[in-house]
Amino acid sequence: CGIVGYIGPKEAVSILIDGLEKLEYRGYDSAGVAVPGDDNIEVLKKEGKLGNLRENLNGHNYSANVGIGHTRWATHGRPSDENAHPHTDCTGKFAVVHNGIIENYLSLKEWLQSQGHVFKSQTDTEVLPHLIEQFYEGDLVDAVLKAVAKLEGSFAMAVVSSHEPNKLVAVRQDSPLVVGLGEGEYFLASDIPALLKHTRMTYILNDGEVAVLENDQVEVMDLSRNRIKKNVLEVNWEA
Ligand code: GLU
Repeated sequence: CGIVGYIGPKEAVSILIDGLEKLEYRGYDSAGVAVPGDDNIEVLKKEGKLGNLRENLNGHNYSANVGIGHTRWATHGRPSDENAHPHTDCTGKFAVVHNGIIENYLSLKEWLQSQGHVFKSQTDTEVLPHLIEQFYEGDLVDAVLKAVAKLEGSFAMAVVSSHEPNKLVAVRQDSPLVVGLGEGEYFLASDIPALLKHTRMTYILNDGEVAVLENDQVEVMDLSRNRIKKNVLEVNWEA
């Protein structure tokens, strides 16, 4: 339902949760965030309101400068902590948040299970981190593109990996996604209100576009990895 992402010099988790609050008007049943740590991805996710998630942050001292967050409106799998996003693969090195529906997730899940992947949730979304892990050969963008090539349905997704902790990869197909261009920092959101506190300069992604956010640049490309020159759209309305 709601997607946010951040990469920059600031502490990511509080920016992510703050951004998710700006998307609360869309409704949701659970929420979560993921940040790439030194070895694994750290995930915190909870059924219920963002307040629940905030309470569970008490005691945790996150210092990550990269992360993704999600508010879920369940389509496949009941609202629960396990079914909340972000979802991870078995190695715990890839995390994904997703809006929309992966129509062919059952056949993908069966294939992934035959390859040894063990699933933790009932969602359609969970095939995404497992697919990316299956295809990963040292290049996150490549693995995401190979995974996307297998998908039928609608999606906006954001991916982080502890293999490449200073990178955030996002893809859009029939579900909105916007990049926010800050000064030395970049944001991702499924809707503009989540960005406005930070920047009014945006790239609006089109279907079949991939955005790769790094500390010093954002690159937008098509699904064949051809670079796309985006125009900056300046948002001039109030949230
Ligand atoms: N289909 C996914 C799920 O049920 C994503 C739902 C959403 O867009 O929030 O987990």
